[in-house]
Amino acid sequence: MDAQDINFFLWCTVKVLLASIIIPAIPSTFNFYIPLIACWISYFVLGAILLAYLESNKQYYIIPMKWKKSDLYFQLSASSRDLFVVLPTVLFLTHKFNIVKIVLTNPEEIYSFYTSPTSWLMVPGAIIVGLVWRMTIHRILHHPSIYRIWHKRHHVRPECMTPFSSFNDHPVEFLIMEAVGTFYIPVILNPLPMPVLVLVWSWQCFSGICDHTNATIPGSYFVDAEYHFTHHQLTVYNYAEFEILDKLAGTLYIGDAKERDRDGKFDSIDTDMKAGSFDIVGFTKHIYSLIFSNKGEVSKQA
Ligand SMILES: [Zn+2]
Ligand SMILES: [Zn+2]
Repeated sequence: MDAQDINFFLWCTVKVLLASIIIPAIPSTFNFYIPLIACWISYFVLGAILLAYLESNKQYYIIPMKWKKSDLYFQLSASSRDLFVVLPTVLFLTHKFNIVKIVLTNPEEIYSFYTSPTSWLMVPGAIIVGLVWRMTIHRILHHPSIYRIWHKRHHVRPECMTPFSSFNDHPVEFLIMEAVGTFYIPVILNPLPMPVLVLVWSWQCFSGICDHTNATIPGSYFVDAEYHFTHHQLTVYNYAEFEILDKLAGTLYIGDAKERDRDGKFDSIDTDMKAGSFDIVGFTKHIYSLIFSNKGEVSKQA
């Protein structure tokens, strides 16, 4: 077991402990467990199925994948922090302090939602606003002064991505871009009945894992990841999740990702997957050396 394994298991333990405190604290009044469980299933279970399928059908990968066990560890670790700790905490706090209303509970409101075409039209409308929010925040996260701190973590080398790279991010990125843009904006603009909320959130998680498969399955509408793969290759194009938004913003890049890889033309600005992550082993060594070394030597981050 190496330092990375120890780091992973320590962090998992911390997250499980945190989750075991936070998740039971979520108010059961509106049964937020249902949309949360739907998110976990669509992200972790479908992600694992997709990864297993692609590993046995490697011809669908855009370029040969070279991810190692440690890559998967980091990605699963960050994703579980986001979905088991950060998102439940946000749900708990917003509900506790009555900050936003995201789910309809009154039978009359639910009835009028189901019978009103305007409410249904608001669903794709609110999802589009969420897409624009995420593209804008994503673009800001690529500003050089912010990129290193909050977004570098997401930019694993393209050949080391797996479906779980989707929420392999910095918690600040998750809070601003995903918790708000993915899970809240589509529903605060248009509070939904519980079954519709479950569908919307599950879809958001599922489309995230599909975008990070690095694969194109012919005939499959869902698994066509070349567009976002290009973002991970070139980093300065394709910030959105739909081409039309990048086209409008003037940041669309369409080309053959496989060709680019063969030519060795792509070189991400910075592809160190561990940067920006909170490394508990390195951090402990760093603090130890600050306290106990009279040289004040800073240990090298693992
Ligand atoms: Zn990505
Ligand atoms: Zn990016």
